[in-house]
Amino acid sequence: MRLQDNKCLDCERLVGPKGGKGRCQVCNQRLRRAAAKANPKPCTRPRCKRVITVPGYDVCDMHRARFRRTGDYGPAEQLIATDGEGSVNKNGYRVLMFGTWPNRVDIYEQRLVMEQQLGRPLEDWEHVHHKNGVRDDNRPENLELWAQWRRQPFGQRVEDLVEFVAGYYQEELEKRGWRRPDGQESPPVRT
Ligand SMILES: [Zn+2]
Ligand SMILES: [Zn+2]
Repeated sequence: MRLQDNKCLDCERLVGPKGGKGRCQVCNQRLRRAAAKANPKPCTRPRCKRVITVPGYDVCDMHRARFRRTGDYGPAEQLIATDGEGSVNKNGYRVLMFGTWPNRVDIYEQRLVMEQQLGRPLEDWEHVHHKNGVRDDNRPENLELWAQWRRQPFGQRVEDLVEFVAGYYQEELEKRGWRRPDGQESPPVRT
């Protein structure tokens, strides 16, 4: 049989002499991928719960990518932690990652710790300072809340500054004996 008589069942390509089941390589690969997707096999790494998405491999995408990157399959767990393990970034801060690319959100651990201490989310202008200068030491006692309002800590109208402090740091003021003029309790109403 001449090669050009042997067209793929699904497309215009010619099928080689070995011609897998009447289809060209491209179509066969597409079918294999679809079959793998429809009936996923589990990753063969111990305790890994992911599935194989690329036919011809016996491990999941994560393990395949990790082996390519490091030459080692490593543990079953994701090494980029999603639930509070985190890692130290190149600037020395501990960062926690939530979700997966492209929806991944990185959050500085010191901000989360401070938010837990305060019982409220941090504002954009609030920064968390490491008292001992060790950037990955996020013990609550090592953290201090700093505020940089509109990136201009100096040169604000006093009236604006008072409004600002009274509006956002009532709990701190109350610790120093200040009382809300309306007699209400914290938590304050933020504007
Ligand atoms: Zn084809
Ligand atoms: Zn796996």
